[in-house]
Amino acid sequence: MNSIQNLIELQKIDSQLAEIEELLGDLPTRVTDLKNKEDSLTSDFERGKARLKEIALEQHKTEMNLAEFKEKIDKLKDQLFLVTNNKQYDALMLEIDHLKEELDRSETTELEFLEEKDQLAEQVKSQEQSLESLSKDLSSKRVKLEQALAASSSEKKDLESRREETTKDLSASVLARYNRILSARNGLAVVSLEGKSCGGCGAALPPQLVAEVKTLVTIQNCSICTRFLFWEKPE
Ligand SMILES: [Zn+2]
Repeated sequence: MNSIQNLIELQKIDSQLAEIEELLGDLPTRVTDLKNKEDSLTSDFERGKARLKEIALEQHKTEMNLAEFKEKIDKLKDQLFLVTNNKQYDALMLEIDHLKEELDRSETTELEFLEEKDQLAEQVKSQEQSLESLSKDLSSKRVKLEQALAASSSEKKDLESRREETTKDLSASVLARYNRILSARNGLAVVSLEGKSCGGCGAALPPQLVAEVKTLVTIQNCSICTRFLFWEKPE
């Protein structure tokens, strides 16, 4: 195989490799993005659930306090009937007032807990729903990605080893030029003649150059887009 045929072969391989990359597209990035979203939503959700448990415990404690205060107040009220002087009466009333304040405070706290609980329960519920649909989306994308990766990996490996074989016969300078043009020209470094024009950029080529290309022996480049030129001999 002479160099120009190596270059044609190399271009074919690189186009197929690019096609595989395109097939996978941004699927891997999208899977990673979804996974990150799922992680952060899960930790929010878990935090919410933990706080709900905490609130339930606190509520229980507050309820016990309320019952205790009420009981104490009732007992003190009963004692009011048994007092024999004003001093005792005033002392009992002071104690009752103090307990009533405590009772008020506990009732306020209980209301606050109830409000927080309602809000949080709603939040946790909606998080659970989003998490569910996100996980479904993620698992279907993951399956697609795995299938695409599996399907392309053996083909890709095969193409890569063929690429290595093909580049062995090329000089380092030609290969470097090829790689440079490939990345500068959108993955297309080797093009065929179209009549007397470059098949890449369409520029009309000097007759001398066209004749050289048609020998299929030397390596020639388009003077405008710098792509390598070859000629497809008509059957
Ligand atoms: Zn050109």
